[in-house]
Amino acid sequence: MELFQHTANQLHKMLINKEVTCEEIIQSVLNRVEKVDENICSYITVTRDSALEKAREIDKKIINGDEIPPLTGIPVAVKDNMCTENIRTTCSSNILHNYIPPYNATVVERLNDNNAVMIGKTNMDEFAMGSSCENSGFFSTRNPWAQERVPGGSSGGSAAAVAADEAVLGLGSDTGGSVRLPAAFCGIVGMKPTYGAVSRYGLIAFASSLDQIGPFAKDVSDCAWLLSAICGYDPKDSTSVEYNVPDYTTFLNNNVKGFKIGIPKEFMGEGIDEKIKKAIEDSAEKMASLGAEVEETSLPHSEYALAAYYLIAPAEASSNLARYDGVRYGYRAEDVQDVVDMFKKTRSQGFGPEVKRRIMLGTYALSAGYYDAYYNKALKVRTLIKQDFDKAFEKYDLLMSPTNPVLPFRRGEKIDDPLQMYLVDLCTQSVNLAGIPAISLPAGLVEGLPVGLQLMGKPFDEGNILQAAYTFEQNTGYYKNKPSM
Ligand code: GLN
Repeated sequence: MELFQHTANQLHKMLINKEVTCEEIIQSVLNRVEKVDENICSYITVTRDSALEKAREIDKKIINGDEIPPLTGIPVAVKDNMCTENIRTTCSSNILHNYIPPYNATVVERLNDNNAVMIGKTNMDEFAMGSSCENSGFFSTRNPWAQERVPGGSSGGSAAAVAADEAVLGLGSDTGGSVRLPAAFCGIVGMKPTYGAVSRYGLIAFASSLDQIGPFAKDVSDCAWLLSAICGYDPKDSTSVEYNVPDYTTFLNNNVKGFKIGIPKEFMGEGIDEKIKKAIEDSAEKMASLGAEVEETSLPHSEYALAAYYLIAPAEASSNLARYDGVRYGYRAEDVQDVVDMFKKTRSQGFGPEVKRRIMLGTYALSAGYYDAYYNKALKVRTLIKQDFDKAFEKYDLLMSPTNPVLPFRRGEKIDDPLQMYLVDLCTQSVNLAGIPAISLPAGLVEGLPVGLQLMGKPFDEGNILQAAYTFEQNTGYYKNKPSM
């Protein structure tokens, strides 16, 4: 087995036992990137030199007898919407093609504090708007399981990188499913933490009441490690919550006895591929055979989630993206008449079609004549969706559903049909509207393509989610399925 194929847990043990150095780990992963990334196209920027330099520094610290925290020397792929000091951060948009941030996002600082090593910045849908990675302003990423198919989005680059062994861990952001969906499509683990659990300082904003950063990993244990490292209060993010972050690895117990799990029937009906439904029914049976009590339940307002999301998210985006005007940073159009012409040309040339669609949708929903009819109404629906979850969690510890309603689709298949693309988030968006945590983990293969099982929990109950996910993983072994590339 090559070094790049290992999990963070395995590499950590090897590092402690002095069987391997950080430099060897990083070199192995960089070689892998060099070999396969021309086919997968995960990375926009590979930070080869700084990664190797950092690895050598860490090796020196280890020789000096310094402490070796769990993520030491572990190669991490970071989505290109998280600011990295002196390293280009594009959000996969031409409007930020030349943006070099003067500071690190808090999550990047946390990786540094834990001696993790960033390998590069990954491709995404422009401004995280999309479900396939095809809305990138630069190029589209491929699914390592079938390169003519999409890896999911918007964090498709990080997910594909981890699935293709081009990184051991990854970071993505999830506004309506952008960590969980690509995790499901690429056959890996991805988690959206509770709103407020991870600082978004330095995350380029899409829809601020929904955005949350989350981990990608090859298995649930690694996910728990990375989650423990990135969670926690940050005074630089006003929505960050002060709470005692548990060591999430203490929840890695192989036991779901007594867990009450509900399956919302709305996530198993119309729009869900029958074969995926079957895989999730099998997963439910598995959970029950392991001692959980599993039954059908209902989240009656979830049929309105997509409609509410596609008003709230664009509304917030239209406001957040007003700052890209060519004045202080990013792209500025040339050959302009005056300042208004400069704004107009800069934004017309800098943004791609999906981003423009969202800005127009959002501006419309927020405009004086339509605010009450659209935006305000969407907020009310959001409250009802949240109340559905609160009620369900009075009875259940967890809820489960498919992550992906459809199998990873072919590149180009949905790109000209926004509504079809939006429907891919059917099972994930309510979670963001309610602010609760959820994980996606492999639930086996259908027609040789990965299917994700989603487990949702109460706010700040990541621990129980991880315990159930770990138990499922250990007793099915689905995480051992790897793409043959
Ligand atoms: N696919 C959804 C969208 O396009 C979700 C994206 C995300 O979570 N960033 O808005």
